[in-house]
Formats: sequence, structure tokens, C-alpha cells
Amino acid sequence: MTERIEGPSGFSINHPSLWDIEQFEANWSVFVEALMKEEASLLIPSARIRWQIEHCETFLEVHSNWESMDPNNRLDAWKRLLVAAEEACQRLLPVCVRCGECCHMGSPTLHVEDLPLLKEGKISWQHLIALRKGEPARSPFDGKPFILSEERIKVAEKEGSRQCVFLISEANQCAIYSDRPIQCRAQACWDPMPARDTAELPFLLRSHIFEGIDLLVEVIAEHESRCGFDALTAAFEELVRSEGKNVEPVLGLLSYEDHFRRFVSDKFNIPPQYLDLLLGRSFAHMAPLFGFRVLEEEDGTRRLVAEQPGAKNEPLPEQ
Ligand code: SF4
Repeated sequence: MTERIEGPSGFSINHPSLWDIEQFEANWSVFVEALMKEEASLLIPSARIRWQIEHCETFLEVHSNWESMDPNNRLDAWKRLLVAAEEACQRLLPVCVRCGECCHMGSPTLHVEDLPLLKEGKISWQHLIALRKGEPARSPFDGKPFILSEERIKVAEKEGSRQCVFLISEANQCAIYSDRPIQCRAQACWDPMPARDTAELPFLLRSHIFEGIDLLVEVIAEHESRCGFDALTAAFEELVRSEGKNVEPVLGLLSYEDHFRRFVSDKFNIPPQYLDLLLGRSFAHMAPLFGFRVLEEEDGTRRLVAEQPGAKNEPLPEQ
């Protein structure tokens, strides 16, 4: 008769005595995923839990000795491992294990206390974006969308994802760990309170960053008055109200805002990679928030294309 070990979700394992290390690891992955689904709190990142399970003494001992272990002892070792894994899963250590999981779920919003990091060159302007008043964002606490009543400065995220631009993907590590912003320092996946307390601190604004650089302060004010996010919202609302017929307000605004950005970059010799901080993200970049993409034809004219139903929506930035 074949011996079977029942785990979470009816997961069963046959003949651990016969597994080589690759089969051990494959079965382990299946077990851990099932275990995390059944045992783990939904609020704790899965990579965090997995890290802790795989750094418990029993795992390290069984995993490193598996290949040299007498096959007759493997079943007992596997049973011990399952028990230890369940215990580790339920007993989270109150420390950051640098699993990198929270850095995959969004970049930090900066506070006034982070200003020295910019002044000392630890965080460059090219790695920051401004979310402007009126833009949609989502709460880092409950994920709910809301409209910003005041601008925010955020570290940029990698294109098409929520991964922080400072996350070194291969190593799953922060490139500026010792100089990371205050929100990252307060982030504790085992306790939401420090992050909530930090959210009460004053947010960094462009007026703090560019204080004393009158020219840039004037450029920001001019851009806000001519290309405020509310104007883009109103143009898209008109497009919807006219059932797609009145496209000119949107295209006109996209074109005007594009010229504004180019003019500022050329006239004042501002590198384009600083514009997302100085002026916020371009209107063309924002169109997916309204369910459209902007296509540029070969002759330079632009077209608006409605997203296909079911198309992946642009993720809202967390603030
Ligand atoms: S700055 Fe560093 S710690 Fe903070 S989210 Fe980015 S990668 Fe993670």
C-alpha cells in the first residue's frame, strides 16, 4: 500500500524516499503554495511568508541534507518539515526580512522629511513623478481609488507595473536601501500602524523641491493654469457625452500639452527625463485612465483609440 500524507487542500505526496532534490523542490513548492492559501493572512505578502518558512532551521537542515540522506529517513524528514512549515507560517517575526514584496506592489510617496535625500543627490529628479491635483490614485491601505485633493510626489514605477524603479529585480533588493524614503522605512507588513502614522506627516510638494528656482516655479504655475488635470477630465467627459463624436477638445489638449512640454525642455534646457516631476505625467500618458490610447500616425497626427473591452487597465498609482 502506498503511504500518503495529507496536507492543505487535500495535497498528497507519494514516496518521498524516491525523490531527488528537484522532485523534493517541486513538491515543496506545491505544498507551500497550498499552505499559504489556507493558512496565511491575506494582509501579509506571500513572498514574506515563504521567506520565513524557508529560513526556519528544519527547512535549512532537511533541504541541505536531502540528497545525502538515507532514503529510509526521508519520509520522517518530510513530515517534520511540513509541521515546521505550518508553525513558521503562523508565527511571523516582527522584522523586515527584505523579501522585496512591498516594493513590487507600489513605489513610495515622499514626505517633506525626504527632501534631504533629493538635496544630497540620493534620489534624482529623473526617478520622481508628480501626481497632480485631481488625478485618480488608490489608497495604500485599502486599495480603494480616490481623487487627489493635493499633489503628491512619488518615486517612479517601472513601465506597465507597480514595481518601484529602485527595486533591483534579479536580486529583489532596493538600490537605495540605506537612503530609502520614510514611507519605506515605516512599511511593516506585520503591523500596518507605522505606515498609517507616517501618512499623517506633511507630503512633499513641487514647491518644496523647486523653492528658490523662480523660473521653474513659474513654469509649473503656467502649466497648471493652462493644462490642469481638470481640463483633461472635462475634455474626456465631453467625448463620452457626445458618444465619441466630439474628439477635438481631447486632441487639442493633448497637442497643446505636448507642445508645452517640448517648449519648456528646449527653451530652458531641461532634460526630458525631469518633466514627469516638473509637469506631471504627459496627457498622452494619462489617456488610458479614461479608457483610451493615443496612437501617432507616420505623419505625426494623433488618433484616439478606445481600449478593447477586457483590456488591461493602467494601474492607478498608490499614494
Ligand atoms: S525605495 Fe527601495 S524600499 Fe522603497 S519601495 Fe523602492 S525598492 Fe522598495
